Amino acid sequence: MNAVQQFKLSGTALPTDAGSMLDEICEHFVEHAEVQRTGNLALLSSKTGTASIRVQDHKLLIELACPSESELQMSRTIIAEHLFYFAGDDPLELIWSEPASLSVLPNIHEVTVVSSEDVTPRMRRVKFACSDVAPFVGGDMHVRLLAPPKGRHPVWPGLREDGRVAWPEGEDELLVRVYTIRAVDIERRELWIDFLQHPAPGVKTPGADFARDVQPGEKIALLGPGGGGLPEAQSILMAGDESALPAIARIAAEVPPDTRIQAIIEVLDEAEEQPLPSAGMIEVRWLHRKSYPPGAKGVLAEETKKAITSIDDQTFVWVACEKEDVRSIRAFLKSRRHDRKNMYVAWYWERDPA
Ligand SMILES: Cc1cc2nc3c(=O)[nH]c(=O)nc-3n(C[C@H](O)[C@H](O)[C@H](O)COP(=O)(O)OP(=O)(O)OC[C@H]3O[C@@H](n4cnc5c(N)ncnc54)[C@H](O)[C@@H]3O)c2cc1C
Repeated sequence: MNAVQQFKLSGTALPTDAGSMLDEICEHFVEHAEVQRTGNLALLSSKTGTASIRVQDHKLLIELACPSESELQMSRTIIAEHLFYFAGDDPLELIWSEPASLSVLPNIHEVTVVSSEDVTPRMRRVKFACSDVAPFVGGDMHVRLLAPPKGRHPVWPGLREDGRVAWPEGEDELLVRVYTIRAVDIERRELWIDFLQHPAPGVKTPGADFARDVQPGEKIALLGPGGGGLPEAQSILMAGDESALPAIARIAAEVPPDTRIQAIIEVLDEAEEQPLPSAGMIEVRWLHRKSYPPGAKGVLAEETKKAITSIDDQTFVWVACEKEDVRSIRAFLKSRRHDRKNMYVAWYWERDPA
């Protein structure tokens, strides 16, 4: 972290149990930042700034320092959203030295639908016109897609005084789902997102339905980018299902020459396979769910674990798929003491959401 951290903000949180909340913060953020824990003090560092969080008198004393004002506001929002998430139904008071005052979020981008097409029978690509694609080039790949109710003029979120996002409610409630920017077309100023069509009998799939029904000219917003980018390594093992395929394809497309990639990708059947052009040396193994015996579970996880046994410590392990598979792969990597800095292991969807 070499950038000058000249934008600063402090805050005080009063949770029911400050000590266990600090434990949760450290446990969670280790996936996203460098976390140093010394007794009652945690220091979280990333390229967007630092957060020092100390337990004192049953409170959490928070100091944020970032290289820019917008990164400071975003760090505040990330910390605030997580603290309230960790608090769950318990009361939590959060006060900042300067209350948040932005009526529009600093990292929100209004975009317009240009076109949509099927890439494979179950993968629908939507292209969006975006006046400034620069924040999406390189770096983080993921966004929160915000879509207003059909036919309604969009109301985009602002910030609450405590730094959390103030989401529009009632008739203006937005559809919010996380997706990957599959590609950035700098010349046309377009962003592409690939949406898996995953029909679930008796259950609504608003994200997938949005992509199925969307029309050119519709306006939505993208919040971000954030949440992880191109792994920096000469050798990468990637594993994922269709929800991760857009990210896997983008990583393959953007790695420097000489990068060695081994990818294990689970799709429904052969028709869902996609070409993965890359300047690197890529070896792809497709797993077809349709060919599994009835009731088969955890096939992707088991195949990924087998592949992990034959990699070295320097290989970056990139995994994204269903929550249970992710949990089992993460535990396996932990048991093998694979360096946490050399992995991204994230669940992209949940089979049985609460
Ligand atoms: C960082 C990140 C990046 C992501 N990138 C992409 C991307 O680029 N493209 C993409 O298609 N998805 C991506 N996802 C996954 C996507 O956010 C989820 O699949 C999301 O749940 C879809 O919303 P929905 O409204 O269609 O379904 P939901 O309302 O969330 O769920 C409805 C039902 O569908 C099931 N379901 C949800 N997702 C899947 C799935 N993938 N396969 C099978 N069943 C499912 C649920 O279990 C539930 O029963 C990403 C997720 C994360 C966290």
